[in-house]
Amino acid sequence: MPLEEPRHSTQPECEVYHIHTECTEANNIETKYFAWGVGGKRLCKHCEKLADADAMAKDMIGKIRAAENLHSLFPNTSLMSNLYLSALKKPQ
Ligand SMILES: [Zn+2]
Repeated sequence: MPLEEPRHSTQPECEVYHIHTECTEANNIETKYFAWGVGGKRLCKHCEKLADADAMAKDMIGKIRAAENLHSLFPNTSLMSNLYLSALKKPQ
């Protein structure tokens, strides 16, 4: 699971909390400063980006699965490749 319970560093100079397991900043919190919860801090920008990327990837996989289902129903159409292309197109 890429998302987890909020955690933060109790050091006053750390102004953010983290929610993503792959956030390097979160993973570098020293054990003695580590705390669960948001700690009255704001969400880490890096975690926010990672979570957004996850949501986008999930959405993309959903579209690809839908395209595959359509392809099994209508194997002779070019719909499949069109849907693939639209799913893989980068958002603006
Ligand atoms: Zn983070």
